[in-house]
Amino acid sequence: MRLFLYDTLSAGEKALPEGPIKLYVCGVTPYDTTHLGHAFTFVQFDVLVRGMRWLAPRREVTYIQNVTDIDDSILARARKLGVDWRALGDDQVKLYTEDMQALRVAGPRHLVRATSAIPTIQGLIQVLLDRAAAYTANSGSVFFRVRSRPSYGELSRLSRTRMLEIAGQQDDADLDDPRKEDPLDFALWKGWSGREDEPCWDSPWGRGRPGWHIECSALCRQYLGEQLSVHGGGADLIFPHHESEIAQSETALGVRPFAEIWSHVAMVRMDGEKMSKSLGNMVFVRKLLEQFSANAVRVYLLEHHYRQAWEWSPAEMDAAARRASALESAARAPDTTPAETREAFGAALAHDLDTPRALEVLEKASGASARDLGGVLGLEL
Ligand SMILES: [Zn+2]
Repeated sequence: MRLFLYDTLSAGEKALPEGPIKLYVCGVTPYDTTHLGHAFTFVQFDVLVRGMRWLAPRREVTYIQNVTDIDDSILARARKLGVDWRALGDDQVKLYTEDMQALRVAGPRHLVRATSAIPTIQGLIQVLLDRAAAYTANSGSVFFRVRSRPSYGELSRLSRTRMLEIAGQQDDADLDDPRKEDPLDFALWKGWSGREDEPCWDSPWGRGRPGWHIECSALCRQYLGEQLSVHGGGADLIFPHHESEIAQSETALGVRPFAEIWSHVAMVRMDGEKMSKSLGNMVFVRKLLEQFSANAVRVYLLEHHYRQAWEWSPAEMDAAARRASALESAARAPDTTPAETREAFGAALAHDLDTPRALEVLEKASGASARDLGGVLGLEL
């Protein structure tokens, strides 16, 4: 059975390519605790990997996820706490990994740090400069020239006005930086500010550190090659992050498409707003797991289709816990699973990872069959 996934770029479903799968998912910036929105994203990609392997057991899947360990928000947070940015990153990566393990997220093959790819990042920037798709500016910074890329905006389908609006809301917004030719241009390399506690690396353009978007283009190149099967992440990364990754990678590497499928997981809301650090409206995974089992939290997350935004609800979390208990009981009973259940379960996953439907089908299974199919959703029944 072939797995079909929705592709953001073509706005339609695409069959997963045959053969080995190269999957890259944008990970966390390690400066704060894992919340339910992160969990929704990484549990969905975990089920995608489990589903791909279950539907085609001999298929090779290489899953890479990054850690943005150098970034304005980490440096600001480290300064506020009076700790070294590396120590803060290490601690937060450890907490994140523990939270994911507690949720039974099998994890990527490699969790890779931006700072592990500095030479690759610099190599890509040099090619972009050589191709006039980037320019150097005062203080050792390098910017991507968005006007060199007429298709910029193809992934997000946003108007220029809307792009400017969103770019202006980013943590490191620099729309009015006078060194830029166009407000939409973004930093590939940020010249060193001279602050002692700000890390920097030598480069042909002066000391500095990489911008956020180029990090992912470089990590994809370094760990997976020039083209990916699936590039994923939260839907809030479509613009500017993924839009910019396409522009950088395709211009520097001269191949298209950079990713065959762009897969985005919708946002979890709380009090009507996206759950986020900046708004402070968060449900922490660690807290939730003090009260509920990993099965209960996973059932709650997987009751929602990955492309549908939804609102945190304590009552629905309770109901999901009861649903998880019923699944556990059924798995302890004799196996009286109807013959068509397996097929229907596979069909649900194969059709754009329809986990709400897969859960409904799972409820018709019992005994060993329930344990087996539950395992594909990461449930331990
Ligand atoms: Zn990324």
